[in-house]
Amino acid sequence: MTWGKETHLQHLGEEKHYAGAVTPPIFQTSLFVHDTLASLKGMIADPNVEERYVYSRVGNPNMTIVEKKLAMLEGTESAMVFASGMAAITAAVMHCVRAGDHIVCVDTSYGPTRSFMTDYLPGYGVETTYVVGHTDEIEAAIQPNTKLIYLESPSSVLFRIQDFRAITAIAKAKGIKTITDNSNCSPLFQNPAAMGVDIVVHSATKYLCGHSDVVAGALCASKAICEEIAMREGQWFGGRLAPFDSWLMLRGMRTLRLRMDEAKRMGALMFDYLKNRPEVEEVYYSGDPNHPQRELIESQQTGHNSLITFKPKVQADEALAKFAESLDIFQMGVSWGGFESLAVPIYGKPMDWPEEQWVVRLYLGLEDIEDLKADLDQGFAHLR
Ligand SMILES: *Cc1c(COP(=O)(O)O)cnc(C)c1O
Repeated sequence: MTWGKETHLQHLGEEKHYAGAVTPPIFQTSLFVHDTLASLKGMIADPNVEERYVYSRVGNPNMTIVEKKLAMLEGTESAMVFASGMAAITAAVMHCVRAGDHIVCVDTSYGPTRSFMTDYLPGYGVETTYVVGHTDEIEAAIQPNTKLIYLESPSSVLFRIQDFRAITAIAKAKGIKTITDNSNCSPLFQNPAAMGVDIVVHSATKYLCGHSDVVAGALCASKAICEEIAMREGQWFGGRLAPFDSWLMLRGMRTLRLRMDEAKRMGALMFDYLKNRPEVEEVYYSGDPNHPQRELIESQQTGHNSLITFKPKVQADEALAKFAESLDIFQMGVSWGGFESLAVPIYGKPMDWPEEQWVVRLYLGLEDIEDLKADLDQGFAHLR
């Protein structure tokens, strides 16, 4: 019987019940003991001995349950959970590059990902070229020593889209690995591995965990890549996810479909509201029906999340502060993907803007959309 993703999300990896408990226990243990030396060394040829855990930095039943579900959702052979999105991202990047190598990276990728490449990797002999994200621009940026193309589609804050199929075809022909950050879509709205991407990374802190109570990360890839990362970056950097956090992640993921469908509904309603506000100059949202890349977006994504950014016409610093501070339901804070709505004014510029500008990134939580609109109605009084 072939089950849908939603059914697997509830049951995959949880076939065994302990004392009849419908939820798995938290295996709050650092190590696992063995009766024989052969078992401890992992030399048992018994196919029924599936669970041969040794040490929780390497593997734990709570990690395995979410890893099985993640691989199923992303359509990859394997998945690995990490103590944060950045732990997963840095492990994936370090897997792909050595001293003397070159990376091509999307300019609007998540800030700390970008600064890892700008401020840390050069110290180890790895250089990065940034691109807006157009396919021909990426192709032109490839050097003989390029080993990695790092994508994020939709990207952070401005939600820029890259063409996975075209870019990964170019990369494969040149033996270059590709990574994409898929936190924005979650595995329910986009599966980049099916479009050729080698490693899909997630900040599970966001939609996957979904309740603003865990910091976690994940990467999804082939069995060969995951096994290599497990023995190298996973083992040596040691940033794997703890048992209780893995358990919380499982709890969060059970409702992923419900929350993503609600995110999609609310994002579309908020887009209609924002695009009709006279105070708004531009709205950035991958679900914009008049998006210049609409055809590409529809060929890659099956939905849009509840992140939406707008550029206000008024650009005065104090006005932006007053707007955000006057909101009652929207709170000011980094992160997103939880139950609570957030509004963050951000000042800056991607590489293709002539000057820095204020934008406001909204994250819509699970409150009533009409209450959120009314909250913004009164906030906009400060942006006139
Ligand atoms: C938050 C975020 C990350 C980093 O994840 P952490 O869990 O905070 O380490 C990476 N990528 C994107 C797109 C994010 O929003």
